[in-house]
Amino acid sequence: PVSTIGSSFIPIINKLQDIIAPFSGGGEVLQISLPQVAVVGSQSSGKSSVLEALVGRDFLPRGCDICTRRPLILMLENRSPIPDDDDTEWGEFLHMPGKRFYDFSKIRREIQAETEREAGLNKGVSDKPIRLKISSPNVLNMTLVDLPGITKVPVGDQPSDIEARIRKMIMDYISQENCIILAVTPANSDLATSDALQMARKADPKGSRTVGVITKLDIMDRGTNACNLLLGGVVPLRLGYVGVVNRCQEDINYNRSIRDALVCEEQFFRDHPVYNDLSDRCGIPQLAKKLNQILEQHVRMVLPNLKAELNSRMAVVSNELRTYGEDMESKEVDPCEDLTDDDIRIAIQNATGPGNALFVPEA
Ligand code: GDP
Ligand code: MG
Repeated sequence: PVSTIGSSFIPIINKLQDIIAPFSGGGEVLQISLPQVAVVGSQSSGKSSVLEALVGRDFLPRGCDICTRRPLILMLENRSPIPDDDDTEWGEFLHMPGKRFYDFSKIRREIQAETEREAGLNKGVSDKPIRLKISSPNVLNMTLVDLPGITKVPVGDQPSDIEARIRKMIMDYISQENCIILAVTPANSDLATSDALQMARKADPKGSRTVGVITKLDIMDRGTNACNLLLGGVVPLRLGYVGVVNRCQEDINYNRSIRDALVCEEQFFRDHPVYNDLSDRCGIPQLAKKLNQILEQHVRMVLPNLKAELNSRMAVVSNELRTYGEDMESKEVDPCEDLTDDDIRIAIQNATGPGNALFVPEA
């Protein structure tokens, strides 16, 4: 298996879904909806690179020019493993129903082609999203959103109000209350002028769903480091910051794999005298861990409501049963009874245990 987005979480969420499923017939379907995750930041800050590293697969267009020109809504869909063929993962676009892409580099090419169909060949931008579903036994049912970066000066076919248009496009996603915002700022730019943080603050003034991501730690000006940024000394952020090193353009040109890149990233942080002491704030696995903690919090938060809803549906069903007049030996049961706090605690431990970083390829 390559991508393991939220892998340790899958059993517990599946268990919950199993509990819920029998109650979903007839009325409104009961579902555990996880928050979606969206990236925001300036053009070329490394947004697509961060998302790709989290998913653990190469499939997004990346580069030093404007690459992401339409929102990409990436729906991760958990499906049960096919016997003897556990690792099969495929992508399917909404605009090409029924066509399964098993080759992820072809997914990237189709994203590019579909971008061009709608937004033209010359750097145009469109707010019409591309919807891609990734079906895999190794993912959680959740949605990630890759967005065009904020740009200031119109180029190519871009209209003169390009900046305002892109800002609106981004706000449409990140202003949703169930959206976790990854505010991406490169380490070689000034955090105090970060477009990402500025927009995130506008959408989430309390900072309860914004995670700061500092990219490009490898190409900072010599003699400087991001220590103070990561500690929140420049712009404090409630959920804090994680620093990462993604693949550089040369790596992309040479088709360097995500797996290799993660090994290099780890080495970079291990060998660096300053970041060595900040290991809980450095690296894609730490970002994954942070996201998982947020997802856990979310599941804990929705659980009581879910339980109440199940109990009330249970009561309706029992009443209906009584009207059939049969004296059945049935007792009121708590549908969530077999889901204990221990289950959740164990899932959390697994999720954060050593060598079990989520959202990243298995070692
Ligand atoms: P986006 O426009 O924000 O989606 O940025 P991309 O992910 O497309 O990356 C833009 C460029 O920056 C690409 O050439 C990447 O290779 C490069 N890049 C992204 N992150 C890093 C990083 O951490 N270090 C280095 N050296 N280059 C990076
Ligand atoms: Mg991008």
